[in-house]
Amino acid sequence: MSDPRPPVFRTDLWLESRYRKLRRGLPQTVFFCPRCKGDRRRRHGCPTCEGFGKLTRESVQELIARRLVPAMQAKTGRFHGAGREDIDVLMLGHGRPFVFEVIGARNPDLDLEALRADIVARAEGAIELAPFRRVTRERIVYWKETHFDKVYRAEVEVEGDVDEHLLAAAATFAGVAVQRTPQRVAHRRADLDRQRQLRVLGLVRAEAGRLVLRVLCQHGTYVKEWISGDEGRTTPSLSSLLAVPCRCVLLDVEEIMTDDVPGPRLPPPLPQER
Ligand SMILES: [Zn+2]
Repeated sequence: MSDPRPPVFRTDLWLESRYRKLRRGLPQTVFFCPRCKGDRRRRHGCPTCEGFGKLTRESVQELIARRLVPAMQAKTGRFHGAGREDIDVLMLGHGRPFVFEVIGARNPDLDLEALRADIVARAEGAIELAPFRRVTRERIVYWKETHFDKVYRAEVEVEGDVDEHLLAAAATFAGVAVQRTPQRVAHRRADLDRQRQLRVLGLVRAEAGRLVLRVLCQHGTYVKEWISGDEGRTTPSLSSLLAVPCRCVLLDVEEIMTDDVPGPRLPPPLPQER
C-alpha cells in the first residue's frame, strides 16, 4: 500500500527588506551572553545572564524570525544585515537593508504583505519593515560587500562655553578625519589609522550644554569617537574644532545612503582608502 500522505517539498528562499529600529536597547541579532555564549549546558547557573543565555529578550532578527519561520513552516532562518548599528542606536530613515534567508520552507507561497503586517504588529512599535521582496542569494553578498555613506544625528554634551565662531565653522566642516582604532574596540580590531570623510550637515545649540549634530559619514567612521576625539586618537574631532570636551549622549542613524535613497553624498574615496 502506498503512503497516503503527500510528499513534503521543502525549499530555501531569500526575502529582502529594510528595517527601521525605533526602540533603543534592541540588538540587530541575538545577543548571546558573553560568558556562557548561550550554550545549553553552560548557561545554567551562569551569573551574567542568570541562565537565560542571552542579554536581551529580543532582537530585530528574533522579532522577524518568530513570525516568519513558523508561517513558512520552515526549519530555520538566517538574518543577513547590511552592516549593523550599536544596540543603543536607532535606525531611522528608509531603514537598513537585510536579507532573511528561509531554510527548508514547506509553505513558501504565502502572502508576504500579510506576513509583514503581522510581524510589525507583534513588534509593538520596536521595528517597522519595508515590503518583502523575493530575491536570489547573491543579494546577501551584495549587501555584505557594498559600502554606503550614512547620515547620523547625535546629541552632544559639551563642557563649558562654545565660541560662536568656532560653532559656525564646525557647522560647515567637510573633510577627512584620521581615526586610530578606538579604545573601545581595540581588543578585537587591528590598531590602525584610518582616513574617513565627513561633512557636517547641521550643528545647532539645543538645551543648555547640548548641541544637535547631523553629519554625513563615510562607511566605517566611528562617529562617537569623531565627536569626542577619543583622547586624541581621532583628529580633527568635533571636540578639537570647538575647543571644548564633547561627548555623544544619543546617536541615531538617520539614513543609509544606498543607491535608491535620495540625499547628500560624499566625494569618491581617496585612492589610498580603496
Ligand atoms: Zn550566560
